[in-house]
Amino acid sequence: MDNCIFCKIINGEIPSNKVYEDEKVLAFYDIHPVTPIHVLVIPKKHIESIVKLESEEDYEYVKSIHKAINEIAKKLNIDEEGFRVVANCGENGGQEVKHLHYHILAGKKLGTKVAE
Ligand code: AMP
Ligand code: ZN
Repeated sequence: MDNCIFCKIINGEIPSNKVYEDEKVLAFYDIHPVTPIHVLVIPKKHIESIVKLESEEDYEYVKSIHKAINEIAKKLNIDEEGFRVVANCGENGGQEVKHLHYHILAGKKLGTKVAE
């Protein structure tokens, strides 16, 4: 989709520091990390957010994203110590980039409260 930062990362117009890639998913380091390890996992299809998932194909992307998170956790060696996965959705969720993405937050002990 035009003017979508993450679509531009997928097609190579904007560089990224890739962590993982397969046919349906791309993962790269967040440019403004909020934890020692901060990775974004995105579908290689422009889906705006969780509430815009509508087809079986879309849900196949979600399945692939979970598989990717599993593999990234092992690759980055955070599978045992743990991490947090966050998907901001819409205005109240604080979603800035309107292309579905999951934050992997890791590398330190996070607070027990999910929401600020
Ligand atoms: P959200 O607030 O959930 O929409 O998060 C968007 C995230 O994308 C933020 O954490 C940004 O730091 C990150 N971000 C924006 N542009 C880029 C980029 N070009 N490369 C990597 N991360 C980015
Ligand atoms: Zn997009």
